[in-house]
Amino acid sequence: MSAATTIPALLETGAAESPAIRAPERASLTYAGLRALAERTVAALNGIGIGRGDRVAIVLPNGPEMAAGFVAIACGATTAPLNPAYKDEEFEFYLTDLKAKALVILQGMESPARAVAARLGVPVVDLVPGEAAGAFTFSGGTPGRAAQPGMAEAEDVALVLHTSGTTARPKIVPLTHTNVTASAASIARTLALTPEDACLNVMPLFHIHGLIAATLSSLSAGAAVICTPGFNALKFFGWLDAERPSWYTAVPTMHQAILQRAERNREIIARAPLRFLRSSSASLPAQAMKDLSATFNAPVIEAYGMTEASHQMCSNPLPPRAQKPGLVGLPAGPEVAIMSDDGQILPQGEIGEVVIRGPNVTKGYEANPEANAKAFTNGWFRTGDQGMFDRDGYLLLTGRLKELIKRGGEQVSPLEVDGVLSEHPAVAQALTFSIPHPMLGEEVGAAVVLREGMTVTERELRDFAAKHLADFKVPRKVIFLPEIPKGATGKLQRIGLAEKLGITA
Ligand code: ATP
Ligand code: MG
Repeated sequence: MSAATTIPALLETGAAESPAIRAPERASLTYAGLRALAERTVAALNGIGIGRGDRVAIVLPNGPEMAAGFVAIACGATTAPLNPAYKDEEFEFYLTDLKAKALVILQGMESPARAVAARLGVPVVDLVPGEAAGAFTFSGGTPGRAAQPGMAEAEDVALVLHTSGTTARPKIVPLTHTNVTASAASIARTLALTPEDACLNVMPLFHIHGLIAATLSSLSAGAAVICTPGFNALKFFGWLDAERPSWYTAVPTMHQAILQRAERNREIIARAPLRFLRSSSASLPAQAMKDLSATFNAPVIEAYGMTEASHQMCSNPLPPRAQKPGLVGLPAGPEVAIMSDDGQILPQGEIGEVVIRGPNVTKGYEANPEANAKAFTNGWFRTGDQGMFDRDGYLLLTGRLKELIKRGGEQVSPLEVDGVLSEHPAVAQALTFSIPHPMLGEEVGAAVVLREGMTVTERELRDFAAKHLADFKVPRKVIFLPEIPKGATGKLQRIGLAEKLGITA
């Protein structure tokens, strides 16, 4: 496994002829091919005046060019992958916010990003795909001299990303080569990745999960990443069958969509076995974990990640050690501790804010002194998540501090209520949220998606919840939806849900 502290050094891990980047129905890009691509890309960028520390916004559809583009551009500049679904105003906001020196975009792709870049005077460079998966050349840009040409060094910023915006306006997170390579190596170690492994990537590559857990961790182990156009529950089983990956990683909403189609794809599951499945970026209900494990006859490794930590903080271990349903596992990357409101580190068994420190943690948000002052205490980064360690050292997350529902004098963890509702046989998915209340401040509500062909009434669900929860935690309102609205990275958003759905107390 790689002990590299830069992405260029990390690419040296794989054997020359081993596949690094794969894609359905395309020839693979080998490690030798990827290394040569990175060198050509850095030279091409330097030739148009872009070097180390300069920011390159990337607007590409999910797929091998996005994975290879991220890796190759990061070898000599700072990458800033943007969601291709953004509209005009969003591109304007992000390109300005990032101070982008260039926009790399797929040749022929229509996107408002082009007009915005022209308006802002940001040079546009077209990425022209080659034969092999992920191979490309550039077209466009004006010749110039880069202030800092050559290959990136450990403390250069490799990647700037925005957080998912689940709880507030997204914040800009700069991550150095040291940060991202440390995280990639710890994920590869947790999952015992070897060159024989191949990860099916269904995660968007403008988010930390897909970039680091699927792509960079594979490359740091000399393994392959199979790049799909993005998650699609209908195509998923076809990819399993044709590509024979050894694992995949996804957010819980994707796993749940996969579970819903598993029964009719039993034969594929039997002939295309996975070594393990990984879930991260949001809470995986204990029931879903058990169902997934039974369906795929493979361990389900739930991990805890965030943008500011270059993804992974904790992870359940592989067998023979235990995977605990509903818990996010052992520290697997940075040091992880629990802190009280007044900044004291708490002993095992006590609930407090999860704090982290280590080589994969960002040095701080960009241009946001206010957020940084709140985020760092005595060298620890405060995650904004609440939790406690169990006796075996596994972390139990009890919720996000910002999402706790304050009902009268009581605090309700929506995560706990989700967990209980998900145990009901008719419930496929549940999301508990806060409803503004004139007397109590906040009241507890829940949105529920039912399993195909099942029914249950609001009353029955509330009675069920009351058997497992103290009265003040039982949702006063339960609404049934065909689908719960999701953010761009596939995460469910509790904050503002009552407003969005027009629900009042
Ligand atoms: P924002 O910070 O903009 O509100 P975000 O926190 O959702 O958005 P990300 O960095 O993508 O942006 O997500 C990190 C958060 O996701 C963590 O702080 C935690 O709350 C949640 N999370 C990640 N993994 C898990 C998990 N396995 N179980 C529960 N929650 C998780
Ligand atoms: Mg966050």
